Amino acid sequence: MIEPIYSPAPDRYDAMEYRRCGRSGIRIPVLALGMWHNFGALKPFQEIKAMAHRAFDKGICHFDLANNYGPPFGTAEENFGLLMERSLRPYRDELFISSKAGYDMWPGPYGNWGSRKYLMASLDQSLKRMRLDYVDIFYSHRYDPETPLEETLHALVDIVRQGKALYVGLSRYPAEQAEKAYRYLREHDVPCLLYQDRFNILDRTPQKKGLIDLAAGNGAGFISFSPLQQGLLTGRYLNGIPADSRMARGTSLKEETLTPAMLQMLRSLNDLARKRGQSLAQMALAWILQDPRVTSVIIGASSVAQLDDNLKSLDNVHFSSEELRIIDERSAI
Ligand code: NDP
Repeated sequence: MIEPIYSPAPDRYDAMEYRRCGRSGIRIPVLALGMWHNFGALKPFQEIKAMAHRAFDKGICHFDLANNYGPPFGTAEENFGLLMERSLRPYRDELFISSKAGYDMWPGPYGNWGSRKYLMASLDQSLKRMRLDYVDIFYSHRYDPETPLEETLHALVDIVRQGKALYVGLSRYPAEQAEKAYRYLREHDVPCLLYQDRFNILDRTPQKKGLIDLAAGNGAGFISFSPLQQGLLTGRYLNGIPADSRMARGTSLKEETLTPAMLQMLRSLNDLARKRGQSLAQMALAWILQDPRVTSVIIGASSVAQLDDNLKSLDNVHFSSEELRIIDERSAI
């Protein structure tokens, strides 16, 4: 059967909000689509395509990838390459695509962490898999305590000079190293565009808030990953562990996290969400976005229905001070 040619919704930019990344010229959608878990070789391509197209139709033009997303490693980028080839290529200039390197990717001493050798080779591989000439942003995925920070950062600078990435970002750097990195990158005329870390109702320590302030103080945007704590902050686990869920797969979200106390907390947060006329997922996303220091939130979704649910969070991102107080109280850990 010949498939119809994809043509994105003409009104795709109308309902989405775009926030500026720090002091840069770039604005990105407040919701980005992350491809860590549900876009690899184990997922039927038709479902991947349906989610990616729905996202773009709704103004989500930022897709977040990394070398090791799948599973298996690399296959999310391969599938993204297929999307480019089959439907998204005409819209390349409307897309903001990321990749990262910093975690285990291939065997031996050059397939992990933060050496120049690893970052350069990894990005070349990512570009081939994604069938791209350049990524919009390339991240150092984590701080490497054994590689001189300058080596990692200078590789980022050179990657931009080579035209393989337009901007660079940092992910999961401790505050002290992040501060040094912001300075180094600025001094080399390649300022950090985005700092990426987890931030959500269940993960908002003073250190995390400090990192968000640090990004803002250094002219970088802040983008939050795992905004739903991998699915905990949704209706997914309120009545047991569904067989097709991330927790049932037991990889990055462990059953041990669903303690009776956690379940009680999720249920009371769910009650508040319902009073606001939202699903728990929608309230959790809205809670992050009500913070003006947050540029964007990278959502994961395993179906178009989840993506649609999450998009509706944008209908109400306002909280009364009483609601914020209740969330603080109920989620106190
Ligand atoms: P989330 O916290 O949004 O979790 C996504 C999971 O939550 C989905 O797979 C799904 O679980 C469940 N879910 C999502 N929406 C709903 C809904 N409306 N109702 C019910 N369940 C829902 O994000 P991720 O942990 O997936 O992270 C998002 C992205 O952030 C990643 O794809 C990646 O791009 C980035 N990231 C970056 C990291 C870094 O080190 N820089 C680390 C981790 C993530 P189920 O599969 O069970 O259906």
